[in-house]
Amino acid sequence: MTNPIDRNTNASVEIVNHPLVQHKLALIRDRNTESARFRDVLREISLLLAYEVCRDMQVDTVEIDTPLESTTGAAIDGSKLCLVSILRAGNGLLDGMLDLMPTAGVGHIGLYRDPDTHVPVEYYIKFPERLEDRLCIVVDPMLATGGSATAAVHRIKQAGATRIKFVCVVAAPEGLAVFTKAHPDVPVITAAVDRQLDDHAYIRPGLGDAGDRMYGTK
Ligand code: URA
Repeated sequence: MTNPIDRNTNASVEIVNHPLVQHKLALIRDRNTESARFRDVLREISLLLAYEVCRDMQVDTVEIDTPLESTTGAAIDGSKLCLVSILRAGNGLLDGMLDLMPTAGVGHIGLYRDPDTHVPVEYYIKFPERLEDRLCIVVDPMLATGGSATAAVHRIKQAGATRIKFVCVVAAPEGLAVFTKAHPDVPVITAAVDRQLDDHAYIRPGLGDAGDRMYGTK
């Protein structure tokens, strides 16, 4: 993992360049990877990214009895965690992470990009209680223009969260700049930062539309 600091904002952007992540990323970039395989591999990537995003997570110390003696161990308190999926593609990362952290609260935020303006429009929002007590891990595979991610994190902050991380698989430099300027306090964890956005706000080389790839829609 590299940990470059965005020079303009001091925001933290971590690129997870572990070979397993990069291998799996190449699989989902491939246009010939069908939806079922795409979802499976995206889920595997989510587990590897979760490993990185949770690296500095607070744990409680608990007393346990092994078959041989008493000792102490670590316990994650799900009431201190919230996973937030930006619909719909965020669900491709959410489910794997939720398997790793099954007691975490779950939020959803529905935003679609207006096809002409590319501005995010909110159509659904639901968060668990007490976001102020939780580390919020926001997931969306693609950080493209940064508009949806920026708007989603804004709403999560409005709901009370103060500790937030953003996890994606592919980021565009343009989107990263927008997001880290708006939310320099929110670390970004990504598997890749690609070359650029194209005129239709797709990330190049990218992997296409993540939601469409996941669900076989067009
Ligand atoms: N959303 C996607 O799913 N893919 C892109 O390339 C850009 C935004």
